[in-house]
Amino acid sequence: MDYNIALIKGDGIGPEVASGACEVLQAIGEKFGHTFSFAEYLAGGIAIDETGEPLPQETLEGCKASDSVLFGAIGGLKWDNLPGHLRPEAALLGLRAALGLYSNIRPVRLYRALKDASPLRSDIVSAGFDIVIVRELTGGIYFGERGRRQSAENGEEAFDTECYSEREVERIARVAFEAALKRSCRVTSVDKANVLESSRLWREVVHRVAKDYPQVELVDMLVDNAAMQLVRNPAQFDVLVTSNMFGDILSDEASQITGSIGMLPSSSLGNTTVGFYEPIHGSAPDIAGQNIANPIACILSAAMMLRYSFDLSKEADCIEQAVEAVLEKGCRTVDIASGSESAPLSTAAMTQEIISALR
Ligand code: NAD
Repeated sequence: MDYNIALIKGDGIGPEVASGACEVLQAIGEKFGHTFSFAEYLAGGIAIDETGEPLPQETLEGCKASDSVLFGAIGGLKWDNLPGHLRPEAALLGLRAALGLYSNIRPVRLYRALKDASPLRSDIVSAGFDIVIVRELTGGIYFGERGRRQSAENGEEAFDTECYSEREVERIARVAFEAALKRSCRVTSVDKANVLESSRLWREVVHRVAKDYPQVELVDMLVDNAAMQLVRNPAQFDVLVTSNMFGDILSDEASQITGSIGMLPSSSLGNTTVGFYEPIHGSAPDIAGQNIANPIACILSAAMMLRYSFDLSKEADCIEQAVEAVLEKGCRTVDIASGSESAPLSTAAMTQEIISALR
């Protein structure tokens, strides 16, 4: 089969890790007889520099016409002081909205070989953990009404609005329950229903959807408790479903307890098979251009693309097993090298190790 992938390398370490993921896909194509064609598009800081806008129309059209999008990372200090609609992040929000990507799935797994890289005590992580965070991606406070106004008493005020509809909550809840059916059949729904009206609706709708999944155990958890439980006992979670902003924050916390943000992939999907696949990390300007970034998050994102958008589970398994094998063998990039005896590998060398393992 031929697959057309829109490739957005972006800024900072984005091009380094995305190139690694493309090489891995080419190797998988050779092994299993598929052709992956890449059409490169600009987004983020580099697009601002070259076209004056973070999400050029050509990029939007190219992504819509593709079979799926592989994304590196965007952003950097240089563009931090531009007005909101011209900042690199506007490209991500624009793409998510235009492609209707309402569900973000982030697997958070502690590999056995990386237990020492987790900042948590060994008695907490000795059993490992394997969580899937399902984050609502096109609603809530990041897309709500916002603005500034002058108040006679207090000077300038700013506001952002959290708004969720039944329809938005129901469709993301279904994604979570369906994911749980393929795993340990447990869903934790995270909200702030003791304070927020939007969370009270969230909770009602999630419970309504749960009636269609009697095999799945549902637990409600307040977001402040969830933040605590993630570091106290992460193994208690199977599928965790939450709103856009809570998911943004909790998934970064969860990534850190696995040892490195450089290990975690993500997929964003809507109602079609055209998905958006990206590492959860940013453009890491502090290490950009040094060939030391960990490419595994982006490589595992490519594996998710094979599984969720192209229905190529065998090929996705092959990449995931190759990653596990190189970690077991002791290969480490600098971010996961704590306690390792051998010298850390470069981005390119880690990529080549994974390609050798999958061949
Ligand atoms: P970041 O994820 O870029 O970096 C946080 C820390 O993790 C840094 O110390 C970095 O060196 C390290 N790190 C990240 N990825 C790594 C990898 N693959 N290998 C090794 N180490 C890695 O977050 P930040 O510093 O808060 O943000 C930097 C820029 O990225 C900002 O402009 C931000 O807006 C942007 N950003 C973009 C995205 C995205 O493109 N989806 C996501 C988050 C942040």
